[in-house]
Amino acid sequence: MQALSYTLASSAEAAVAQYAQHQGSARYIAGGTNLYDLMKLGIERPTHLIDVSRIVGMDTIKTEGDILRFGARALMTDVAYEPMVREQYPVLSESLLKAASQQLRNMATVGGNILQRTRCMYFRNGAGSSSTVGRYHCNKRAPGSGCSAVNGLDRTQAVLGTSEACTAVAPGDWPVALMAMDASVELLGSSGQRIVPIGDFYRLPGDTPQRDFNLEEGELVTAITVPKTPLGRASTYHKIRDRESFAFALASAAVALEMDGTTIRSARIALGGVATTPWRSHAAEAVVAGSALTPELALRAGRSAFHDARPGQHNAFKVDLGARVIADALLIAAQRRA
Ligand SMILES: Cc1cc2nc3c(=O)[nH]c(=O)nc-3n(C[C@H](O)[C@H](O)[C@H](O)COP(=O)(O)OP(=O)(O)OC[C@H]3O[C@@H](n4cnc5c(N)ncnc54)[C@H](O)[C@@H]3O)c2cc1C
Repeated sequence: MQALSYTLASSAEAAVAQYAQHQGSARYIAGGTNLYDLMKLGIERPTHLIDVSRIVGMDTIKTEGDILRFGARALMTDVAYEPMVREQYPVLSESLLKAASQQLRNMATVGGNILQRTRCMYFRNGAGSSSTVGRYHCNKRAPGSGCSAVNGLDRTQAVLGTSEACTAVAPGDWPVALMAMDASVELLGSSGQRIVPIGDFYRLPGDTPQRDFNLEEGELVTAITVPKTPLGRASTYHKIRDRESFAFALASAAVALEMDGTTIRSARIALGGVATTPWRSHAAEAVVAGSALTPELALRAGRSAFHDARPGQHNAFKVDLGARVIADALLIAAQRRA
């Protein structure tokens, strides 16, 4: 039995100060849908929890000048059903509604969502109660222990952004939409505030797969911002999974288009379920920019996103699936042009 203490933070500043008192052994907790899970699996072993789910003002969803601001403790449900988000940024709403289940979305926060950890089965199984390595080797869970996914069952592993040390997929849907919308993450830490573009927030595994995020110890996510853009309207989040509900993506695409009639002026394309981070594909964007969209062009764009793919033994299907998901998402988004 391990002792566990708990405090409820009333402000972002108070949360950061409480963290500083428990350096290294504390965790923030919001909806708890990922953290409690990891604690039960023995992967996370905090001795102090700082509940940030009641911080006043950190749940607001508002437009401010040129940006949309989502407080980090806003519930996935509340952001997904916000009328302005549904109408003007369907990619954001759909990425949330296609994630998890209604019950989970009623608990889980958009800040916790961007920080959830991989569902790689070798990461999640094998922490054991006393062993640091356990049944499966995982460099993300136990650095330097190896990776059982290499030469293992890798059907759900990544084909983009992998390293010798790790092929675990980034699990979230909402971060993929945020990547397409050029979002930023607002942080508060003991040395003050900073803003990190979402493209710099996630780390490729390289030889340090244990670090998923460019976060300093004790930094609190206070908000996620999205620049207002006309690209939001002709947008979609398309997700393919083993079952149509309550499952993580095998491949997904967030697409947002700026259209001039039937011609695509510019496109933003990001991928989920196939890469070790939420994955922006500038190659696919370049294929469609300045052209009238046809099914053939859409598929060519999809294929261009996978030129650098490195499939393993059982996940080569993701290369074709991912290309087709992008193609379908482009066609859906183009239908939504004003
Ligand atoms: C069965 C199941 C199916 C799921 N399916 C999907 C799916 O299909 N798609 C998908 O995207 N997700 C899915 N999820 C994941 C779910 O969306 C996440 O668990 C949830 O979004 C996490 O939010 P939370 O508020 O509960 O985070 P918590 O569990 O409270 O926290 C998660 C992490 O973030 C940290 N944290 C939380 N808030 C902050 C903050 N403000 N600042 C700094 N650190 C913070 C915590 O310390 C912890 O490390 C699924 C989860 C389950 C259990």
